[in-house]
Amino acid sequence: MKEYFLDFWDAVSSTATGMAITLRHLFMKNETQQYLSDEKPETRWNSVIVPEGLLQDRSRMRLYVKMEDCIGCLQCEKVCPVDCITISTEKRQKTELPIFAANGQGIKQRVVQFDIDMSLCCYCNLCVYPCPTDCIVMTPEYEFAERDKTNFLYRFAKDKATPPEPPEEKKEAEPVAAG
Ligand code: SF4
Ligand code: SF4
Repeated sequence: MKEYFLDFWDAVSSTATGMAITLRHLFMKNETQQYLSDEKPETRWNSVIVPEGLLQDRSRMRLYVKMEDCIGCLQCEKVCPVDCITISTEKRQKTELPIFAANGQGIKQRVVQFDIDMSLCCYCNLCVYPCPTDCIVMTPEYEFAERDKTNFLYRFAKDKATPPEPPEEKKEAEPVAAG
């Protein structure tokens, strides 16, 4: 019986708390950002009306990868909760000229595929945090609707994969000379 009343009290108090918050927000300033003009709903906030500083610092929108700085560490791919990043790399040869990301980190892997399927992305931003060269970023682009879903597959890698080496032919076993 005691448990019944405790549950009852729990339900009543949590409902009252929720309603109190709702009530408080009824009288607060509206924070919803609207397009400014009814006549020109195509007017964009960030680029036309207010050049900078309107979009919140932590806004999450379209992803971009600056491939020149990508070292192919795969950290963004591993951390993505919906597996919408696909990266393929190949080792750069010792004979190739050394190259570096903007922060000085050596690039030892050639990134031959870097795809992000933005139709699957949930904008969690988790891929951005671990990047050691800060080359994967959220841009301020927030209008990129598409009719064709395949257009959401963004392919960032420009390097072509070198054709794989043909598999080594198995050598026939040398006949063992009879002693
Ligand atoms: S923002 Fe989240 S869901 Fe989107 S690509 Fe990055 S880790 Fe994946
Ligand atoms: S975490 Fe950064 S450097 Fe590593 S593969 Fe992703 S984008 Fe490239």
